[in-house]
Amino acid sequence: MPAADFEMNEIHWMMDMFNTIDVGLVVLDRKYNICVWNGFMENHSGLLPSAVKDKDVFDLFPSIDEKWFRSKAEAVFVLKNRSFTIWEQQPYIFKFKNYRPITGKADHMYQNATFIPLTNTLGEVGHLCIILYDVTDEAVNKLELELANKKLAELSRIDKLTGLYNRGFWEESLHKEFKRINRNNNESCLLMFDIDHFKYVNDNFGHAGGDAAIRHIADVLKKTLRESDIAGRYGGEEFAVTLVDTDVEGAVIFAERLRKIIESSTIFYEESEIKIKVSLGIAKLDTHFAKHEDWIVAADSALYCSKENGRNQVNVYKKENNNPE
Ligand code: GH3
Ligand code: MG
Ligand code: MG
Repeated sequence: MPAADFEMNEIHWMMDMFNTIDVGLVVLDRKYNICVWNGFMENHSGLLPSAVKDKDVFDLFPSIDEKWFRSKAEAVFVLKNRSFTIWEQQPYIFKFKNYRPITGKADHMYQNATFIPLTNTLGEVGHLCIILYDVTDEAVNKLELELANKKLAELSRIDKLTGLYNRGFWEESLHKEFKRINRNNNESCLLMFDIDHFKYVNDNFGHAGGDAAIRHIADVLKKTLRESDIAGRYGGEEFAVTLVDTDVEGAVIFAERLRKIIESSTIFYEESEIKIKVSLGIAKLDTHFAKHEDWIVAADSALYCSKENGRNQVNVYKKENNNPE
């Protein structure tokens, strides 16, 4: 084949490859006008190379984050270095619709990109080439995995019956609070409570009736709590609430309110009406507690006092009463 023919062929092949390759190729000049636009860009934007030639890229694609894009591109022009962007930083540069059947959950194409400085014969960077990769599959997979992990983490800290935090997560949060308050010298209280004569509820209304009563307590709690309070199901029919930045007076008011609401409400379960009462114990965080477990023991001993003194009441832990030494 004569050399001239070969050269012609080569150009022809190059153009073919340039237009069929499954990545976007764009060349911009120093003023951000489009000089080159390959088949990938044409297919996804619906704009022919002739329609975009010499047009300002920001005018044609107002969805480009211009400030971010310019700072990225200027660094390439000035420093003559390549630069990369990934979808986690910027989901896309050119907003293209996503037509992929499997990853149809994304409504736009996620893109990674490489910015390459293009030098002229004098070694000056007058143009910039952007190589655009469609990474929608990878992005959607990763986002779905993250979402699934988040849901899993949420499930692992929620008690199924009540929707409150389970004991493990609640106690972890109490531990954090214990360390925080110890540092900041804030006042916080721990409230623990237990349903009175719950065995009677189970015996008379069945286990499912008992479950309805436990759920009722959780509903009352959710309606009564402040956003900063952390409530958990501590055991079968035992509950715990960390009352953050609350003094004993405030904790007693909260506990009494809770006690009265529970005492006066009726739980409708199938054909039955169930009435329950609770005994409550409060302990203020004290500097003599060496660990968060001591705080729990103190609140539990105040709760024990409530049971001993006739149930359906609130007691506050007092160091001298409960801890003779
Ligand atoms: P007290 O006033 O002294 O607390 O008496 P009580 O009958 O409530 O005694 P206790 O706290 O020891 O009883 C707890 C009962 O709660 C025993 C257990 O069968 C029941 N229980 C524990 N978890 C669940 C649960 O998830 N659902 C139901 N329905 N019952 C449970
Ligand atoms: Mg009980
Ligand atoms: Mg109990």
